[in-house]
Amino acid sequence: MPFKKSALVVAVASSAIVAGCHITGEIIKAQGQAQGKHGPVVVETTFKDGRITKIDVLQQKENKVLAAAVFKNVKQNIIDKNSVDVDGISGATFTSNALKHAVANSVKAAGVTLVAASAVGGKQQAAQPTDYTYDVVVIGAGGAGFSAGLEAMEQGASAVIIEKMPIIGGNSLISGGEMNVAGSWVQKNMGITDSKALFMEDTLKGGDYKGDPEMVRAMVDNAVDASEWLRDYVQVEFYPNQLFQFGGHSVKRAIIPKGHTGAEVIGKFAKKAESVGLPVHTDTKAERLLRDKHGRVVGVEAMKNGHKVTYHANKGVVIATGGFSANIAMRKKFNPELDSRYGTTGHAGGTGDGIVMAEKIHADTKNMQYIQTYPICNPETGAIELIADARFFGAILINQQGNRFVEELQRRDVISNGILSQPGSYAYVLWNKAIDDVAGTVDMHQDEFADLNSRGLMFKVDTLKEAAEKFNIPLENLEKTIADVNRYAASGKDEAFHHRAGLVNLAKGPYWIVKATPSVHHTMGGLATDPRTHVLDTKGKVIPGLYAAGEVTGLTHGTNRLGGNAYTDIIVFGRIAGIQAASGK
Ligand code: ADP
Repeated sequence: MPFKKSALVVAVASSAIVAGCHITGEIIKAQGQAQGKHGPVVVETTFKDGRITKIDVLQQKENKVLAAAVFKNVKQNIIDKNSVDVDGISGATFTSNALKHAVANSVKAAGVTLVAASAVGGKQQAAQPTDYTYDVVVIGAGGAGFSAGLEAMEQGASAVIIEKMPIIGGNSLISGGEMNVAGSWVQKNMGITDSKALFMEDTLKGGDYKGDPEMVRAMVDNAVDASEWLRDYVQVEFYPNQLFQFGGHSVKRAIIPKGHTGAEVIGKFAKKAESVGLPVHTDTKAERLLRDKHGRVVGVEAMKNGHKVTYHANKGVVIATGGFSANIAMRKKFNPELDSRYGTTGHAGGTGDGIVMAEKIHADTKNMQYIQTYPICNPETGAIELIADARFFGAILINQQGNRFVEELQRRDVISNGILSQPGSYAYVLWNKAIDDVAGTVDMHQDEFADLNSRGLMFKVDTLKEAAEKFNIPLENLEKTIADVNRYAASGKDEAFHHRAGLVNLAKGPYWIVKATPSVHHTMGGLATDPRTHVLDTKGKVIPGLYAAGEVTGLTHGTNRLGGNAYTDIIVFGRIAGIQAASGK
């Protein structure tokens, strides 16, 4: 064996897949590897006397912000407990498990038997404070919460953000981060003419005119300033010459953060918070709003590590807890259709806590029944399958029988319902190289392909026969469907489902085929607020000391939120909430 035994290290023969086992004196180092969400996670673990002394992550391509929490907290817990039997990070389960398995494999490779942490003095938890006092207490560390906390501090107030999850960012982190702005510097760079009036009309129309015009006006009027604040103060990098035009928008108006991800925005928020001394208390769940005898909200009762912690707020409390996509009971209460057949594209913390807490002190809610689904999502994780955006370029939808069943460019809700009424309540998205040459989604989302492929949910194949075999689809039906599509592509007329953009010839491979189901994407309803972000009670009166911003609120989007409007909403109203709460008015 290439290493020496010490008194506490028991060497065993290792069959681990891992290479790179060395020793210097009694220090043993070994590598281990496991599959993460976006490729392998490789670690090198250092052992001394049966104890893990250090873990170096040598390779990983996980989501930047999620991974930061895993590679800090889970790693530290493994070292403290001297065991891989530690809790993962909720919301980053895949990455947590990959780290634990990689370390376990390195233990095997080293041939080390880990001793119990207590035998070598595992770390004791420091006593935790039970009371804090700030001018402004913000609940939720998503885009709205960070905007509120930072602006409150800019006003000279002291502020804190409390976050129930071990990781920051909420849905703002896992979104694409695109933000609609009429009159942005990017539109100017690209020579695009737009107006606030047009942005407002698009937003109201997109929500079937059920959105509140005053809220929409406030969002639209403050969008340019909010985007420049993100760029200049928070230092978010946006592409200078690229814009998205989401469905329902008359022009290209969504600015795009670097990497097309909310991780750029949340990562920069976290940096800014650190640099201005805005504390973010994670693993801290707000449970109750505290009021004084006049009914003013003066604090929050929260739970951390099973203990009660009280946050006193001199000036105000901002609720920025996001939506309720992950709360099936709440979804069903307002829309019985949206039961457990639907996953969510959102994170696990989106359970509507802010709505529940505020309702207990008589806050009003609006539009709770308007819940948006996204049709093409990963059947196992609920996440949007971005790679299947090839649908916007001609990819078709088929069911288990190999038949089309809906127009592929229909509204999200129509496609979702169509999929749920197919056998097994799922569908496949199928496209070929001719489509990919234009869409480019396969190259853009290679990590996603690797993940879906490893789960047996997506394949690249050369022929239709292989595609049919991979998913047990009757080949005869599939061939007939493709022959029909090719005929409609040639004539320019989709006789079956009236594809509005015209179909594309699918005669030639290679092909990509991916299984998909709908997920709940965004909850439009929530707390009733005025445009200054005051939370209103059921009589329409301001609840003093209480403010709300972001997906937890219910008046901006009407029946249906347009793509790219979530970020505009959370940044604009998050900032207003911070300023307003700091004033106490
Ligand atoms: P928004 O887009 O409105 O900012 P996000 O979903 O991005 O919403 O962020 C909301 C954040 O609030 C999430 O990180 C979520 O975990 C957090 N949160 C939700 N409920 C609570 C709670 N009870 N206590 C503390 N944080 C909460």
